[in-house]
Amino acid sequence: ACTAANDVIEVSPRIPSFDYTPPAYTGPTADEILKKRKEFLSPSMFYFYSKPVNIVHGKMQYLFDENGRRYLDAFGGIATVCCGHCHPDVVKAIVNQSNSLQHSTILYLNHSITDFAEALASKLPGDLKVVFFTNSGTEANELAMMMARLYTGCNDIISLRNAYHGNAAASMGATAQSNWKFNVVQSGVHHAINPDPYRGLFGSDGEKYAKDVDDLIQFGTSGHVAAFMSEAIQGVGGIVELASGYLPVVYNTIKKVGGLCIADEVQSGFARTGSHFWGFESHGVVPDIITMAKGIGNGIPLGAVVTTPKIAEVLTRRSYFNTFGGNPVCTAAGLAVLKVIEREKLQENAHAVGSYLKERLNALKAKHEIIGDVRGRGLMLGVELVTDRQLKTPAKVEILQVMEQMKELGVLIGKGGFYGNVFRITPPLCFNKEDADFLVDVMDYAIAKL
Ligand code: PLP
Repeated sequence: ACTAANDVIEVSPRIPSFDYTPPAYTGPTADEILKKRKEFLSPSMFYFYSKPVNIVHGKMQYLFDENGRRYLDAFGGIATVCCGHCHPDVVKAIVNQSNSLQHSTILYLNHSITDFAEALASKLPGDLKVVFFTNSGTEANELAMMMARLYTGCNDIISLRNAYHGNAAASMGATAQSNWKFNVVQSGVHHAINPDPYRGLFGSDGEKYAKDVDDLIQFGTSGHVAAFMSEAIQGVGGIVELASGYLPVVYNTIKKVGGLCIADEVQSGFARTGSHFWGFESHGVVPDIITMAKGIGNGIPLGAVVTTPKIAEVLTRRSYFNTFGGNPVCTAAGLAVLKVIEREKLQENAHAVGSYLKERLNALKAKHEIIGDVRGRGLMLGVELVTDRQLKTPAKVEILQVMEQMKELGVLIGKGGFYGNVFRITPPLCFNKEDADFLVDVMDYAIAKL
């Protein structure tokens, strides 16, 4: 437990028990790696801490540095490591598949690929059963947008302001935060007013926001669109839950003008939101195309687009191919992930622990003025820091100080949002109540030290 620095700080975080010792590390030091990183990796690579941690090992919800120091991983590799770091079943599936076949391409048959496609389809409603594998969320969104354009014969796509959908031409066009956009051609996307209950123009009135999509279609397009694309909860955008009632109205509007609805489940899929397996389910809508990545492989590079046989037909007009998409090692990992989520009841756990954690974070909000908002579902939670609750002034500097302090106390957490002032809590779904308590107590301590 850490000791309180002064009388104002009442908390003494109880360190959760976790009986595991990582193997001794004999590799290069953090300084040596950092020097190489600065010389050989792209200068665009950023890090949150004054000096990034040298992570050499992972086990379930924990990460370990070169000195064997343990950190609770509250970011989960950016909402990616859903089963836990190096989950033994996922490791076993990867090793077994690597020992029998690492790559052959989709030109041949291999059951690792078709078994996983079948298992994925079984998780989706109705006719959503045709899978195209990619290597990332960006690629999945590029493909989804292209399919919608081909299917409808329209170019216009609507996405939401504050969205993040990827970093290639089409997906960067759909992304709507200047932080993530370069000034190159990304045409054909219109950005609707974000139905953000905390910062949005119409508060939590989902129907008012939905009217803006109607207006965009009438005044910004020929009256037809290829698609509407959105996350169920915006992740990079700062864990923004879409105002209730918004998506069903928008989906109807889009369908009426002949467009398709694309659900970007890259962050919100694979049981993360707890109440449902997919984020869109909590909005009561059924998309035409679903894109996924991150949690799908527990950290193995894999993405997918799933759609109906009718829509998938558009790709037969030309040859369409992806060398690594559907690599058998990745799909073996994906199948193991689905089995672990089910057997270990990770969705139920995300719901129970996430609800408990959100309750504790709300209690923290009542204690600390700097917490302006607590939001999200399951183990996809956001804590927005503001220096003035009335003005919602983003606490951009303070959040870095709190993060640094939390790291010192053994918790790694993510941050995001347009202003970079929102904690993003997206841990492995095996996160337990003790971990939740530790996270909140450490945050409490770190905020009190500001
Ligand atoms: N869509 C969403 C919702 C994301 O959060 C991300 C990445 O953060 C992407 C798409 C792009 O995925 P990738 O980084 O795997 O290309």
